[in-house]
Amino acid sequence: MVPHRPVSLVLSYQYPGKYAFTVLAGAVESDPTLADVKLFFPRDRETLLATVKERADAGDTVVAAWSFYSASFAASAEELTWVRERLEGRSVLCIAGGVHATAEPLQTLHAGFDLIAIGEGEHSLRELLARVQRGDEPRDTHGVAWLKDGKLVQHGRGEGVKLDDFPPFAARNAMFGAIEITRGCIYACRFCQTPFMSKARFRHRSVANVAHWARELRRSGRRDIRFITPTSMSYGTADETMNLAAVEELLAAVSEAMAPDGRVYYGTFPSEVRPEHVTPEALALLKRYVHNDNLIIGGQSGSERILQSTRRGHDVETVVRATRLAVEGGFVPNVDFILGLPGEEASDVEATVALMERLAELGARVHGHAFMPLPGTPFRDAPPGQVDDETRRKLDKLASQGRLYGHWKQQVTLAEGIASRRRPRAG
Ligand code: SF4
Repeated sequence: MVPHRPVSLVLSYQYPGKYAFTVLAGAVESDPTLADVKLFFPRDRETLLATVKERADAGDTVVAAWSFYSASFAASAEELTWVRERLEGRSVLCIAGGVHATAEPLQTLHAGFDLIAIGEGEHSLRELLARVQRGDEPRDTHGVAWLKDGKLVQHGRGEGVKLDDFPPFAARNAMFGAIEITRGCIYACRFCQTPFMSKARFRHRSVANVAHWARELRRSGRRDIRFITPTSMSYGTADETMNLAAVEELLAAVSEAMAPDGRVYYGTFPSEVRPEHVTPEALALLKRYVHNDNLIIGGQSGSERILQSTRRGHDVETVVRATRLAVEGGFVPNVDFILGLPGEEASDVEATVALMERLAELGARVHGHAFMPLPGTPFRDAPPGQVDDETRRKLDKLASQGRLYGHWKQQVTLAEGIASRRRPRAG
């Protein structure tokens, strides 16, 4: 047997990368060949630095990891620089992954990471740690990229995993989170990174597997269970249709696993429901099993033209109907909107604000986002979302009435940052 080097994996466990790390830590702790790898979850940069230094001084080979979306890339890059400047000569392998690293590998590597994971990270991280343990070259890992003489070298792409093959969280390290029941999305909304990162098809975790992890969660003393999916009511289907029998089988199994006093949250944070899936039958089914009093519904725009150009796959009336039905079905609809979508003219913006006001009158809360031109999406080269003064005034009024919430103002700034960092496309 090859003797193992002691390895410490230090994960920058901060929002929003911590969601990916809860899953990836599960992939590491469930691999018997990595049983000796020690995992650390520092929640701020000072603790991260102290942990990295302490493990390096103890003689471990240290891997420090970051995961981020495009909106948090700048903050992660800045943290990396801050950490590197304080290592005082210690050798630490600094790695990154996630959707931004996958879409913008050169930009991410130029920020100073030693190597990055491209695509889904479960297999790549396992292989990389096994290599580090054996003293082999981590850059030979499948699915990673690095810089050689300033040029990108990429060794394949991390393949799409079968969700049942991996735990949804890291139970042994007591790091729990929402259970990912579906990865990838068949809808191709042009502003969204999900189909780019995880392919335009659904991969579902099986009912038996979800129930197994729900029991683990309950055994740990937790009462609440939540789910990650691109579209909650698409569970068990391969296309746009709903499979309510599959959703019911899932909710029944989870309710039993969490019994007697568990609380099941479905169709709400951190996931949402597409508006055309809000039907009386779907609502009645949810009412039988879930504890949430609200549903998060994707509305996105009040302009038919913009809904079409973004390929949302539904119209305005469907959003209004979903709101009405949700209220009648006993849920508070929280409807998502994106402000400043590409191609919007004044009349489109007016239509969106008018729809927000109309839904608020029907009993909805509206959730405002600013459009971000995300790398990897068809809209990556579009201008960042802007919100004009008149629209701001109307939105502030809705917010003062408690009908609007969200970080759209901060996102306007983040969107400008994303646009300012992108390179012009060749050709
Ligand atoms: S916005 Fe939602 S429905 Fe559209 S592609 Fe993204 S995850 Fe799928």
